[in-house]
Amino acid sequence: MSEEIMYTLKTSEMPKQWYNVLADMPNVPQPPLHPGTGQPIGPQDLAPLFPMALIEQEVSAERWIDIPQEVLDIYALWRPSPLHRARRLEKVLGTPAKIFYKYEGGSPAGSHKPNTAVAQAYYNKKAGIKKIATETGAGQWGSAMSLACNMFGLELLVYMVKVSYEQKPYRRSMIQTWGGKVIASPSNTTNAGRKILEKYPNSTGSLGIAISEAVEVAATNADTNYALGSVLNHVLLHQTVIGLEAQKQMQMAGAYPDVVIGCCGGGSNFGGIAHPYVADKAHGKKVRIVSVEPASCPSLTKGIYAYDFGDTAQLTPLIPSFTLGHDFVPPGIHAGGLRYHSVAPITSQLYLDDVIEAASYPQLECFEAAVTFARSEGIIPAPESSHAIRHAIVEARNAKEEGKERVILFNLSGHGHFDMGAYDNYFAGKLIDDSMDEAGIERALKAIEPLPKPKGYTGRPKGVVAV
Ligand SMILES: *Cc1c(COP(=O)(O)O)cnc(C)c1O
Repeated sequence: MSEEIMYTLKTSEMPKQWYNVLADMPNVPQPPLHPGTGQPIGPQDLAPLFPMALIEQEVSAERWIDIPQEVLDIYALWRPSPLHRARRLEKVLGTPAKIFYKYEGGSPAGSHKPNTAVAQAYYNKKAGIKKIATETGAGQWGSAMSLACNMFGLELLVYMVKVSYEQKPYRRSMIQTWGGKVIASPSNTTNAGRKILEKYPNSTGSLGIAISEAVEVAATNADTNYALGSVLNHVLLHQTVIGLEAQKQMQMAGAYPDVVIGCCGGGSNFGGIAHPYVADKAHGKKVRIVSVEPASCPSLTKGIYAYDFGDTAQLTPLIPSFTLGHDFVPPGIHAGGLRYHSVAPITSQLYLDDVIEAASYPQLECFEAAVTFARSEGIIPAPESSHAIRHAIVEARNAKEEGKERVILFNLSGHGHFDMGAYDNYFAGKLIDDSMDEAGIERALKAIEPLPKPKGYTGRPKGVVAV
């Protein structure tokens, strides 16, 4: 008999409820504020963009929320996802640590994102919505949403940042294969897009502009809603199927993690693996929980806790978050999904209250970790996921130095099959470690000083780094 390396659950063992971490947090996040009035926003402010069921989930204090059968039926196409024991990686590292990873790359879109896309499409369909407008950078979210809209018979319009539309055609093709319509942003289909094109005819676009275009379409068409792939409470909620499954699978493996790790862009895959363990911690379990971000976009480790806009165009409510400032433009690192100036209010509050830790790494170390992983475990990780791997390896090396066993669990949020250009650049020696743009961060943080301040604001980074 070979040693056990994969822990799988039956379809019938899939979680039937999502876990809402708001029920177990020492302090719940402070409310988002209306940018005009400075007052907390209410359901009526969100109603033009989201169906009421999702708005209710956004503010719900219930610990458990039922997953609709129709959503479970789609999840069953790839869930429960496997938990692996990385025995070959452990050998390569010569570590006494036991390394486990949950693999979300087996979804049709290749990442964790369909876990929320499917739920969002379902609630929109049920509310009588015909069409979703959304934005995508490198195409991970757009492709997940296209898969989900196809499953529920919704039309989809994706504003894709022009530079990615032209340089990364394959996720665009995925969106089209599942029936979504892709428009390069900025476009002449919206006022926001036309305004940019008038001023900058050769604009290659940005996520901020693409968001403006999608929100405009949703806000001005009664049958159209908007969908967001991270940051919001309901998005993190939907992702908790990852951690809930992992808890059962770790039990099958007869192990409990000393440390749980996820990479962090907006905070959704991190929340997905982490929140069920936050519950354990709230009930007395000893477990460390670490969020890992790029050194060049270090929202938790170098940002300040403040009210800030969620987007460059200043269209969103003010959200309480660790932020580098909405004006901050991170360098063009290859983990595009982690290039977000702030993090989810829930993730921020957990960090503020020392429930979770944070670490950051430059991209070259992350690619090195990704290659070590691919050459031992086989799977080629997404550049985003490689940040979690990098930290798992650091934890494993520390365990070796201390001569102690340590159980490490991380979330492998996606595969890297559409990011091979980044690997090519890495092997050709063309990738560099963009140093952190200190001046850029300072400038962007100055710009948000006049905004209202949340409780806990100090004007300084918290700067706690794991390990
Ligand atoms: C989008 C993405 C991320 C980052 O998003 P979060 O909101 O932080 O989860 C991480 N990994 C992969 C593979 C992604 O596609």
